[in-house]
This record gives sequence, C-alpha cells and structure tokens, in this order.
Amino acid sequence: MIQQPAIHGRFAPSPSGPLHFGSIVAALGSWCFAKKHAGLWTLRIEDVDHDRCDHETGLQQIRDLESLGMLSDTPIEWQSENDARYINAIDQLLRDGHAFRCVCSRADVTNMGGIHRACIRHARDDEPASIRLHVPANTHIAFDDLVCGQINEDVAQAVGDFVLRRADGQFTYQLAVVVDDAHQGINQVVRGADLLESTARQIFLQQRLGYATPSYAHLPLLRNKDGAKLSKRLDDPRAFDIENDPVEILTAAWVTLNQKPINGITEPTEWLQKATDAFDFRRIPATEP
Ligand code: GLU
Repeated sequence: MIQQPAIHGRFAPSPSGPLHFGSIVAALGSWCFAKKHAGLWTLRIEDVDHDRCDHETGLQQIRDLESLGMLSDTPIEWQSENDARYINAIDQLLRDGHAFRCVCSRADVTNMGGIHRACIRHARDDEPASIRLHVPANTHIAFDDLVCGQINEDVAQAVGDFVLRRADGQFTYQLAVVVDDAHQGINQVVRGADLLESTARQIFLQQRLGYATPSYAHLPLLRNKDGAKLSKRLDDPRAFDIENDPVEILTAAWVTLNQKPINGITEPTEWLQKATDAFDFRRIPATEP
C-alpha cells in the first residue's frame, strides 16, 4: 500500500485576472508549508464563477506557476468541471435540513440589516430560488490559525444564513472551496489574509457536511517596508515578468513572508528547494482579524 504523505496543501487561484503579487505570496507560502514536511501541493483553478473567470487566464496562471518552478503534484482540477460534486453536497444539506430554498431579494436582506436570519416568505417549488445554509443563533466557531493565532467568530452574528447556490444556478465560492478541499483530501489551507474572515463559515459548512477541518494559515498581503515597496511595484502584473525574472518575484514574496535572505541562486527550482529548507513559518507576521 502507498503511504499517503501526511500533509496535502493547495493553491487555488481564481482566473478572474492574471496572478498578482498577493497570489504569488499565497502560492509560495502554501508551497513551503506543504513541502517543508514532504507533503503534496495541489493546484486548483477556481473558475466556479462563470461570469468573472476565463479559461485562457487559468491556463496562463498554470504557465506562470510553472515558470516559478511550482508544479502540481496531482492532476489540476478546474471547478467548472465539478458541478456534480456541488449538487450532491447541496442535496445532502437540503435533505438534512441544514440548507433551504430562499427567494429573499438583495433589498430584503438589506432591510434585515444586511444579514439573512429568516425568510420573509416561503419559496414556491416552481420559482427560482437561491440555496442558503441555515446558521442558527450562537454558532460559535473557534480555530487556531498557524499564523494569526486563535480566532473566534459567531457565524450567525457575522454573516447569518449564507448563499451556497444563487438563484441563477451559480455555485458560490464558499460552497465550492469547502467541497473541493474535502474531495481532494486537502488538510492544510494556506492563503491570503483577505480570506481569514471566510474561514469560520467554511468550518461550519464542513461540520454540516461531516467533513474534516484542515489546518489554516493566513498570510500577510503586505507587511514590512521592503516587501511593501517591492509589492507596490510588483502589484501591477505588467511591471513584472514572471517568465524572465522568476527568482526576483519569488524573492519579493519571500521578503513579504519575512524569511531570511537566500542569495546567489538564479534557477527557480533550486531556489524553491533552498527556500523550503530555510522556511520558518514562525517568522511570518500575523494579520489582525
Ligand atoms: N480562489 C480564491 C481566490 O483566488 C482563493 C480560495 C482559497 O484559497 O480558499 O481568492
């Protein structure tokens, strides 16, 4: 029997635009977290939002990551091909009474103070409806982020009943990310701190679906002076040339992660190997929730 590596991390960009500097910090951070312990690193293209995502952009993201020396250890999945998985998960939640059909409009939710807690009327079977996860009062979720420390959130207070599938049939990011991470056996989620606020609701959804909860680490988007300077310049995708200057870009991401300098290496695969050996996640600055 093949021994499964203990750690399975991932990088999951949305192809709604070219990789930006923040995505490269997340790619490198997730790579180092996984590879430091000889784990697997999986690339998943999150093109669940058909209106905002574009296939060619996803292909370019894959090529850019290859130029940076980061290759997926498992076949690359595209979320646009995973509808059956999402439908199954929603069916399960509806069957278990954890999700419900909802016809409240955006204006209705605004009138509720922006947080959905109860429907103003029942959805008829024949009308288009969104599917929401029911979040009961006092749904307290606590988790220990490897970078940001202990986080506690009352999901009912913070977001209320959240949407899993829109009335037009579109699955949401919150649903797709939870279902795919579980389906792919991801047990380590490392990503930008902009997603810290989504984590508690994702953990609650995992619990409702009976999935295991991965470990989490949320990386700074911008921090120390050098990193801020570099990333300001690098934040404009036209200002950096991933194909010709991969190590310059990896180095800028490394500085944002506050790691000790790596000198004299110009080849990305060799650079990544050195980075993995040198990586110390305790040096990464925490972002306030
Ligand atoms: N696809 C999301 C993004 O590009 C990231 C999802 C995640 O890492 O959980 O912002």
